[in-house]
Amino acid sequence: MKAYNLHAVNDLRYEEVAMPECPRGWAIIKVKATGICSSDVPRIFSKGTYHFPTIPGHEFSGIVHSVADEGSEKWVGKRVGIFPLIPCRKCQSCLDKHYEMCEHYDYIGSRRDGAFAEYVAVPVWNLVELPDDVPFEVAAMMEPFAVALHAMKIGGISSGMTVGIIGTGMIGIAAGQWAKKYGAKKVTVIGRSEDKREMVENCNLDYTVCIDNNKVAEFDFVLEAVGTPNSINLAISATKRGGQLVLMGNPSGDIIINQLVFWKILRKQLHLKGTWNSFFDGTNPSDWTDVVTSLETKEIEAECLITHKFSQEQLFEGLELMKHHIEPYCKVMTLWNE
Ligand SMILES: [Zn+2]
Ligand SMILES: [Zn+2]
Repeated sequence: MKAYNLHAVNDLRYEEVAMPECPRGWAIIKVKATGICSSDVPRIFSKGTYHFPTIPGHEFSGIVHSVADEGSEKWVGKRVGIFPLIPCRKCQSCLDKHYEMCEHYDYIGSRRDGAFAEYVAVPVWNLVELPDDVPFEVAAMMEPFAVALHAMKIGGISSGMTVGIIGTGMIGIAAGQWAKKYGAKKVTVIGRSEDKREMVENCNLDYTVCIDNNKVAEFDFVLEAVGTPNSINLAISATKRGGQLVLMGNPSGDIIINQLVFWKILRKQLHLKGTWNSFFDGTNPSDWTDVVTSLETKEIEAECLITHKFSQEQLFEGLELMKHHIEPYCKVMTLWNE
């Protein structure tokens, strides 16, 4: 089969590789769509994966090609989305069913081979059956949609709130969609330049550019979805007295909070929370089952988030576009086995 195999940092090769093995309890997925996550860009070009070679790609959907066990035969031929984290099932977080906080997890597309490939092996437990009318490229965004939903739930999103989203990445915009679904009175995405306006407004969210952190409006609920010192200082300033601030953006480095801004955390008695990954529990209710339901009912608008589609042969073009910010993008999708 064909796959993008990372042999070393900055050495991704589109090449012929062996079909993945299918251990007991696992399934082989014929990949139909894989999103390029913003985390894939440093993973491929600067940070690398946990070992080499590894096939990246953790946001994907496809068709169950085969299973290892007779008991799982019913999955064969089903259209599926995939929770990419494989919990250890031994640590305290796993025993508490908080798999997203597992201390010894495995991960499809970073710690083991992922879905920049025609086929990928995944445990049957990680499969999510798709309704017929959810397209593969939408289903490939279930992971970031679940991460966004998890963040909103962590912050206690509720109807009537004003919501500010710091950052214009896909998860931030997805979080804005969730805020609307949960009845937010007003959702504003805050960016640093005008070139993201059209993309955000196409998703039916308000957009504002903030250059001066001291001149930002205040919101009941703020989601920080960038992870730079500047954006975190802005997020604190943008949260109302007694408001909710959820920190989601992966830190770009050490985060310095200005003294005057730090005072605001105290004087405004802010509720600060961190969020990580998403909650999944097989076929039991989870962030992921909520995502499937909302995609099916179209309560959240997913298709507007896909700004670019590439064939499997064109994946490098998608990576270059994101690496060099050649044009504004939200979700860059690759289509497989067409
Ligand atoms: Zn991701
Ligand atoms: Zn664990």
